[in-house]
Order: sequence, then structure tokens, then C-alpha cells
Amino acid sequence: MPEPLTSGSEALFARARAVTPGGVNSPVRAFNAVGGTPRFIREATGPWLTDVDGNTYVDLICSWGPMLLGHAHPAVVEAVQRAVTRGTSYGTPTEGEVALVEAIVARTPVERLRLVSSGTEATMSAIRLARGFTGRDVVVKFAGCYHGHVDSLLAAAGSGLTTFSIPGTPGVPASSTELTLVLPYNDRAAVAAAFAEHGDRIACLITEAAPGNMGVVPPAPGFNAFLAETCRAHGALFISDEVMTGFRVSEAGQWGTDGAVEGWVPDLMTFGKVMGGGFPAAAFGGRADVMHHLAPEGPVYQAGTLSGNPIATAAGLATLEAADEAVYARIGVVADALRAGVAESFTAAGLPHVIQSTGSMFSVFFTEQPVTDFAEAQQTDVAAYGALFHAMLDQGVHLPPSAFEAWFVSSSHDDRAVQQVLDALPAAAAAAAKA
Ligand code: PMP
Repeated sequence: MPEPLTSGSEALFARARAVTPGGVNSPVRAFNAVGGTPRFIREATGPWLTDVDGNTYVDLICSWGPMLLGHAHPAVVEAVQRAVTRGTSYGTPTEGEVALVEAIVARTPVERLRLVSSGTEATMSAIRLARGFTGRDVVVKFAGCYHGHVDSLLAAAGSGLTTFSIPGTPGVPASSTELTLVLPYNDRAAVAAAFAEHGDRIACLITEAAPGNMGVVPPAPGFNAFLAETCRAHGALFISDEVMTGFRVSEAGQWGTDGAVEGWVPDLMTFGKVMGGGFPAAAFGGRADVMHHLAPEGPVYQAGTLSGNPIATAAGLATLEAADEAVYARIGVVADALRAGVAESFTAAGLPHVIQSTGSMFSVFFTEQPVTDFAEAQQTDVAAYGALFHAMLDQGVHLPPSAFEAWFVSSSHDDRAVQQVLDALPAAAAAAAKA
């Protein structure tokens, strides 16, 4: 297959590297995991990305989740255009914020919600609130779950299951992670042991509602219910991070598929991505009695100059309002078609693989066995993914440039876009099989 012309992206990448670390403003965009030059995107519409060299790609990143409706969706563009002519930020309350919060409260079990500008801010604030509410300091998280670049959550597991953790990156002081316990995902015994030993010191347990940041590793049936119940029994708060899954896995996110069915509710939840419609908007919320502890009602401080920004709230509200049953049905159909295409072409190429999903979010692991936690995810064949990624890119399909990410689809992925992916898969699978 001929490689697309990329001289424009290469020139921009050189310029970018001269002024920005790694040439990117978020690390995975740099293609470090798969090699090569990141494509600099000039514009996007529906499921299509166009780079500065004029190459087009079917987008299976969707901005890492936000673009549920696809790019430049008319309803979102119109809402943004209307909002922007009214001024871009006032630093006062607005009706748009109330409407977006009401829309989220209507779709989820949260009783009160505070808007922020990024998922990182949402989880950071939720943890501060949990600590302030409980008067306890210890936070439990799972290895492989990513909750943004919050110091206390950039933690690597300590030497034993119930030992406190060490910083996961230079720049985070040991004092920031020494109150964080990192446990293996889907491991009830580890959770029970941690709470048995430290239960009266645990402020909260935070988990991705269904992890997507080690690739998609769904919770075992009943695992989230077990976490909610364990937290309740020990007076700790259960924080379900739905930044990635919220309003994507279903109208009510991952909770709509487990908590709503099983009859439990997280104490706090975090949201981002889809609820901002491609703009910086995120949120944390939950039980009214817990949220009541937040300033200015309560003593736990949290604030933001651009929180509830009028453009972001307009884009988010337009997105949620457009996300009707037909949208969720379409992304389900698209995801099913792609999963079937992957399974068929990988099997034909003799590539061992496992496809793991929650709703329309899915990942492809090069391994024989289902992946249930981070340690297993790390044992999968990363070289094969790099070969797959580049062979797909050369055929006009932009996968996430890392094996440990979900593939995202949108309701704008029409039959032509789906067919372009299906047509690219056999050659890419053959390339991966040779890697
Ligand atoms: N939580 C989860 C589950 C996420 O996937 C992410 C981002 N990928 C975050 C939090 C952080 O969000 P942001 O990048 O907006 O800070």
C-alpha cells in the first residue's frame, strides 16, 4: 500500500518540537507508543479527519471520547455560534450552566453537581470533597485506572497489596501518594483485605466505572456493586469516574448498565468528555449531603475562572439533547460492525486476539485470554498493535496510537466510513501478524 504524503505534518511536528515538549500538548498524541509522525489535523467533519497534507482518515479516536455525535455536528455548531456572539465568559452564573447541570441530573443518579473544566479537575475535587466530608485521608484506586494527572492518583502500587504506594512519575512527592492504596482491578479479595486493614482511615475508593485507560477491561459482573457495598460498610465514599463512559456507554453511562439495574448508587461521580461536546467542560457530583460540604455552602474549597463557561455549556447541552435513542442505537451498530470485522480479519490472519467492550467502547488485545486487570493488559503484544496502527493509518483509518486505549465511534460513522475500516482490516491484520 502506498504511504500517504505527510510532509506537512512532519514540518509542523518539527516546529512543534522546537517549542513544546515532544511537540504535543498531551503525551499520547506524540505516537511514542507506535512510532512515526503524528498527523496534524486541519479539520474534521462527521467521522472524517483531514490532515494538513489533505489525507482523510476515518476517526476512531473521536477526541478520546467526547465526539459522540461526530465532528462539527450541526446542532452543536449552531449552539456554539449562537453562544459565542453573546460573549465568551462572564464570571457570573448563567442559565446555560443550570440547564446543563439539570440535563446531567436528569440522566444520572447525582443529586447535586458542580461544573469544572477538565476530568482531572473533577476527580481531584471529588477526592478533596471525600476527604473533607469523611475527615479521613486514605484513597483507594486500581492499577491501570487513569483519573487524570492528579498528584495523589499518579501512584504506582507499593510492594504489597495493602501497602501504600509510591509516586508513578517524578515530580509527585512521596507525601502525595503515601495515602494512596493501589489495588489490582477486579480483585475482590484485595479490596476486602485493604478495607479490613485500613477501613477506618479510607476516605474513598475511586474507580473508572468501566476502565478504558488500560484498554477496555470491563468490571466483572457485580464488581461495582461489591465496591459500593464495601465502601458503605466502612463509611468510605464510592467515587465512580464516568469521565470516559458517561453519556457514551448509555444515556446514563456505565451506571445505566449496572447500578441502575442492580439498585446501587455511587456517593460521588465524575464526568467529562461527552458532556462538553468537544469543549473543556467536566463535572463532579453526587449525594446532596456530601455535595453540601462544598464551598460556598460548606467548608471544602473548590473554584474555577472558566467553570461552566458559556460556550462549553452550550456545546455540552446541545450534545446531550441530540443524543437520543437513535444515536445510541447507531453507535451500537457501528461498534458491532467493527468488532465483527476485526474478529474476522484477525482470525483469517491467524492473530490471537481478544475484543473487550463496554457498550460501544471496545479494545482489541493481542492475547489468547480475556484481560481482567492491568498486569494482564501489560502482557499483551504491543509490537503487533504498532504494526496494525500504521497499516490502518496508511489506509485512511486513524486508530488510537496506543494499544491501551479504547476505540471510539460516533453516531456520524456512516456506512461508507464503516466500510473503509472493514476494507482496511485484512491487510492491517496481515501486517500485525508479521510484526
Ligand atoms: N478520568 C478518566 C476515566 C479519563 O479517561 C480521563 C481522561 N482520559 C480523565 C479522568 C481525565 O480527564 P481530562 O483529560 O479531561 O483531565
